[in-house]
Amino acid sequence: MSWLRCRCGYIFHDNTDFLSFKAHFRADQDTDDFFCQVEDILKNQKLSAEDKAHEILCVTDFHYTNRLMYQCPECGRLFVEDNDGHYHCFAPESKETCHRLLESAEGENWKGFLDAEWTFPKPEWREKCGYISVYVNSQEKIYLTFDDYEALRKKFWDLFQILSAKKKIRRASLYRTLDKKSEKIFSWSD
Ligand SMILES: [Zn+2]
Repeated sequence: MSWLRCRCGYIFHDNTDFLSFKAHFRADQDTDDFFCQVEDILKNQKLSAEDKAHEILCVTDFHYTNRLMYQCPECGRLFVEDNDGHYHCFAPESKETCHRLLESAEGENWKGFLDAEWTFPKPEWREKCGYISVYVNSQEKIYLTFDDYEALRKKFWDLFQILSAKKKIRRASLYRTLDKKSEKIFSWSD
């Protein structure tokens, strides 16, 4: 699924990893079979450690936990995929229902991303030449746009110092494209 429209109007775009409104789930009836398969892979003497990791990932991702669930961050409706790939929608019973049920078990301690890009001349589809985006599990989402490269660079650095010190990010990057030539200015991962 690349996108799904909720009845409230919210559109889920599923074109990236680490989505806070998405979960993969496994039927309880499959639990035993799943762990038996993982055990067989681990016991297989013919496989290298790398192959074992790959096989386990395949069993996990493509067989037993390949069904998906999405929760609308706006209205809290839950979309659950059946075994044929169709989605069934459930609406929350009260206003108090949490809308962030599918976030990481780490909650606000989940480590996110800090990304920035500067493109000159300004691409048509963008409002300004530069942007900084912070993706972490907190209420306020940060997306800043810039007309001035130095201001962007300074803000990026300030945010990087704060977020990395608080252990809020796992990755940070700053890219600059001048006349279609792209250059990595800064890249970090923990
Ligand atoms: Zn909704």
